[in-house]
Amino acid sequence: MEDLLVKYGDIIRKGRLPYLRCKKCGYSTYYPKVRCPKCTSHEFEVSESKGSGKVYSITSFNNGGRTYYYAIIEMEEGFKMYANVVSPATIGDRVMAIFVDERVQFNTVKI
Ligand SMILES: [Zn+2]
Repeated sequence: MEDLLVKYGDIIRKGRLPYLRCKKCGYSTYYPKVRCPKCTSHEFEVSESKGSGKVYSITSFNNGGRTYYYAIIEMEEGFKMYANVVSPATIGDRVMAIFVDERVQFNTVKI
């Protein structure tokens, strides 16, 4: 697990989006886990996401006159993750990962 977390951190430091993929069943997850929730295997590998996905669910709130968007993003590789979206978005919108202040966020992609 420690080696996986080092590789995971290396990808983040490059400004890219890591994820874990179960070697046994192919299940993918953004958040590191000790066991695969699908098949209970301990064998994961770290991969680098393309960074593209779509909005699965989203909410917005206002703070000091500014609107913030918080979403569940379904990534092209099959995993879902929580993240801020820096531009107005709705369910189904295509988004791309960006790094703002070393934190992953998403921006909408115009098709
Ligand atoms: Zn698995």
